[in-house]
Amino acid sequence: MTSLQQPHSHQKAKALKPGSRRPAKALCSECGLCDTYYIHYVKEACAFLNEQIANLEEQAHGRSRNLDNSDDLYFGVHQDMMAARKKEPIPGAQWTGIVSTIACEMLNQGIVEGVVCVQNTKEDRFGPMPILARTPEEVLAARVNKPTLSPNLSVLEEVERSGMKKLLVIGVGCQIQALRAVEKQMGLEKLYVLGTPCVDNVTRAGLQKFLETTSRSPETVVHYEFMQDFRVHFKHEDGSTETVPFFGLKTNQLKDIFAPSCLSCFDYVNSLADLVVGYMGAPFGWQWIVVRNDRGQEMLDLIQDQLDTQPVSSQGDRRAAVQQSIPAYDKAVTIPMWAAKMMGVVIERIGPKGLEYARFSIDSHYTRNYLYVKRNYPEKLENHVPDFAKRIVAQYKLPE
Ligand code: FAD
Ligand code: SF4
Repeated sequence: MTSLQQPHSHQKAKALKPGSRRPAKALCSECGLCDTYYIHYVKEACAFLNEQIANLEEQAHGRSRNLDNSDDLYFGVHQDMMAARKKEPIPGAQWTGIVSTIACEMLNQGIVEGVVCVQNTKEDRFGPMPILARTPEEVLAARVNKPTLSPNLSVLEEVERSGMKKLLVIGVGCQIQALRAVEKQMGLEKLYVLGTPCVDNVTRAGLQKFLETTSRSPETVVHYEFMQDFRVHFKHEDGSTETVPFFGLKTNQLKDIFAPSCLSCFDYVNSLADLVVGYMGAPFGWQWIVVRNDRGQEMLDLIQDQLDTQPVSSQGDRRAAVQQSIPAYDKAVTIPMWAAKMMGVVIERIGPKGLEYARFSIDSHYTRNYLYVKRNYPEKLENHVPDFAKRIVAQYKLPE
């Protein structure tokens, strides 16, 4: 900074010390904003203090979602949706590595100078270590999910200090909501946002409990995903795969592992990213792409020739399965493994597929989270639950 320039007022604010109480208290998702002087804006920016998805959709995409259009209602503002996979998947990526490939290409072509992403710590393969990557090698080292709360925005001060003007941020919904709220204060010329869906995240301790209660060999898990075949797929160090049916999860022991932030989140589909890359609206083995605006299309175009694509499709009817899952989760029922396996097989054959599977997952999580907020934060229910989520939840009969 030259002596004539004034610091932004936020630069005078002080980041909170690690481990100190956050403004959102128990609901904090450790998005990282409060680890920087951008804490100055926390009351407005925090996803758990000020729900403002519709306003920020207008800002980012030029319009908010049309609640009378079913795809908009569920998946947010979009101009295109498809299933895709890399012709040559990146080894060790979460799925086929579309996210990492886009980020590398943006650096290679000089479209951005840096990428906010999350590597893991030296000691712990699931320990999140957010970084400002400047090379494709650093981006590739951030591939694969760190299935824990991750303070991605903690590198925002570094971004400002670096003087970078063109930036890509990769992140999940709560991080992206806070980012959009402070975007204008960051002094960037261009910000690209590449999001993933996110649900049921956990603290590192919660993750350990999940691995220990669910996997046959918790220490060797390198990767896991809740997949469209209603099973959790674990990949182990030796390359072997283990699958456990959702319906056989020890719900009674696992009920408390999810972070309170994630139990009160209604932005599963990352409404504010330019481009979203997940899997749940696509056939098994494929990724699900949601292009929200022109900037998202620009990012996807960069790697189009490296992808196989197919249109999205939808099959089955989720509603009865969702309605049945509500009291089952509420009472934390655990069914015997043999019955879980049978249910898994039947549901996979006749159950929801493609976009209907995505709706199944959205409905199950929003109904559960609505009940969680109603019981634990009744004073927040009205303002914290966005209108689109209220509409989705209203389709079901909920217990008191
Ligand atoms: P890769 O090329 O492997 O890149 C993964 C990227 O994710 C990296 O750039 C890394 O920086 C970033 N990342 C990793 N961990 C985190 C984190 N904790 N916070 C922020 N960024 C992170 N998709 C669905 O369709 N349905 C789901 O229910 C779903 N749940 C998810 C839950 C979590 C906690 C996360 C992190 C992702 C979830 N996803 C979900 C997205 C999906 O698992 C893949 O991440 C996505 O499809 C991209 O795969 P890829 O192979 O292209 O990613
Ligand atoms: Fe701060 Fe983010 Fe936690 Fe909200 S979720 S209190 S913005 S660190």
